[in-house]
Amino acid sequence: MKPPRFDYLAPVSLDEALALLGRHGEEAKVLAGGQSLVPLLNFRLARPAYLIDLNEVPGLDGIRIEDGRIAIGAMTRQRAVETSALVRERCPLLAEAMPQIGHVQIRNRGTIGGSLAHADPAAELPAVMAALGGELVVRSVGGQRVVGAEQFFVRYLTTAIAPGELLVEVRLPAVPPRSGSAFLEVSRRHGDFALVGVAATLVLDAAGVCAASAVALTGVGPTPVVAREAAAVLVGARPGEAAFEEAGRRAAAAVRPESDLHASAEYRQHLAAVLTRRALARAAARAAGSPGNGASPS
Ligand SMILES: Cc1cc2nc3c(=O)[nH]c(=O)nc-3n(C[C@H](O)[C@H](O)[C@H](O)COP(=O)(O)OP(=O)(O)OC[C@H]3O[C@@H](n4cnc5c(N)ncnc54)[C@H](O)[C@@H]3O)c2cc1C
Repeated sequence: MKPPRFDYLAPVSLDEALALLGRHGEEAKVLAGGQSLVPLLNFRLARPAYLIDLNEVPGLDGIRIEDGRIAIGAMTRQRAVETSALVRERCPLLAEAMPQIGHVQIRNRGTIGGSLAHADPAAELPAVMAALGGELVVRSVGGQRVVGAEQFFVRYLTTAIAPGELLVEVRLPAVPPRSGSAFLEVSRRHGDFALVGVAATLVLDAAGVCAASAVALTGVGPTPVVAREAAAVLVGARPGEAAFEEAGRRAAAAVRPESDLHASAEYRQHLAAVLTRRALARAAARAAGSPGNGASPS
């Protein structure tokens, strides 16, 4: 099918893009990599009167360190994030999740901001953002606000971005010493959206005791699920198999997935348990071997 008629607007500065968004509000959609929006237009599931193309707007891409955090421009291509040495070093969880998004051709065009703004319930990046406690910077002609990852994802395909606002940047905390992380998912074929995905992080103290941990899941509900009860099992003890098992059980208990043509709710719940256990075990092993660690794994 062909998309419905729309006016194509191609601003060449951020101010111009924000002014257009302010003027056209709910009637406008911004075009980033087009990997989700163009199919939606062609299926006529999206019918914007105005399409505002961000691809000629300078200053919306790039990866840098700011105030000790990693700041990634919304228009940074997914492939650029995937291949960034800075991301690999300072945010290995994000680096590990990136190649699990679709195929390389999709990541060459798709942007980090587009994926987060689209908020697919099975996407990898929302779970990564939730596990890391990332922040999303949104801007409009009226100013800028910073939204925490858990507040950003509101419901199925819906975020806290209001009409007239643009996601301009993503901020992630850099990893502390003696920390490890893992992103694991199961999908039916390579490149498919995850049936279930788990992002896990873990920080050890100098004695090898878990000082902090986080678990977030994708594919198990309309938004990413932060499984606090699961991560809490680890904190205050030396990580080990029994704790990973219990964390998996709690993660499964924390989610209410739905059945669809790809998988039953029961199978998704089973995956939540298994992937949480494995992701935490991998994160713990990585934390034990990470720089600055005098401790050894239990
Ligand atoms: C075959 C296929 C397989 C895929 N597999 C996966 C997968 O496994 N995992 C996964 O996560 N994704 C997958 N995707 C989706 C892909 O990651 C998209 O790139 C992503 O969802 C959207 O990014 P985009 O830059 O292409 O955004 P676009 O398609 O241009 O935009 C998507 C939506 O976000 C809005 N938007 C974009 N940028 C901004 C912004 N800066 N501020 C406010 N709103 C904005 C748009 O208006 C639109 O509503 C797949 C896509 C395809 C075609």
